[in-house]
Amino acid sequence: MFISFENMVTKEHSCISCSKEILDGSEFQLCENCLKNLDSIDGETCSKCGDRLKDGILRCEYCEGFGYEFDSNRSVCYYTDVSSKIVKGLKYGGRKYYAKHIARLMTKDKKFFEKFDLITYVPVGKKRLRSRGFNQAEEIANEISKLVNIPAVSLLSKTIENKNQAKLSQKERLENLKGTFDIDTSNKDKIKGKKILIVDDVFTTGATLSECAKVLKSQKPKTVCSITFAKTRFNSIN
Ligand SMILES: [Zn+2]
Ligand SMILES: [Zn+2]
Repeated sequence: MFISFENMVTKEHSCISCSKEILDGSEFQLCENCLKNLDSIDGETCSKCGDRLKDGILRCEYCEGFGYEFDSNRSVCYYTDVSSKIVKGLKYGGRKYYAKHIARLMTKDKKFFEKFDLITYVPVGKKRLRSRGFNQAEEIANEISKLVNIPAVSLLSKTIENKNQAKLSQKERLENLKGTFDIDTSNKDKIKGKKILIVDDVFTTGATLSECAKVLKSQKPKTVCSITFAKTRFNSIN
């Protein structure tokens, strides 16, 4: 007797946040519940840091004094239970393929990318690269590059391994980061006059992205903006 297996095998995957089994076909590999609770940052956002704002305000009070070196940042969602599990799965769980799903979430608005010539990413130090096996920001940048047809290029290098930033304030982070990034000399000539987008996984205080933008600006690009998957919420406005 001939048995067709076609209907017996249901392709199933796990949600990249809560691990619940979901049917194949979910664009972002997120279950309905996690997708609903992702806390996307839409609507009016701060023209600098990308935090959600009340109607009519252009710049949030919180980031005004920070003096960010990047022109503007955009983040897809807040760093909540849902997004933090995705980021941790990629970063510490070795689930490199999450980068593809994160990139899909980050490129929902394809029009946003039209204003950029080059995509780059926040580099990690050699030691961290060895222990993790890959740079999560680079993986996400490469996936974004494929989805929006903009080249992803290594423009920065990490010269010094700075101490862990987790317990530091915004000011201390900036101090801690000084001199830790440099231009990737192999691509130095690609920066001048270009509109550059830096990719990272999480925007916490913005100190890392600001420092990266500062280093890039030494080579006279036209603009330097950043995009991250998740962002720590500055404003308590919902
Ligand atoms: Zn889920
Ligand atoms: Zn802001």
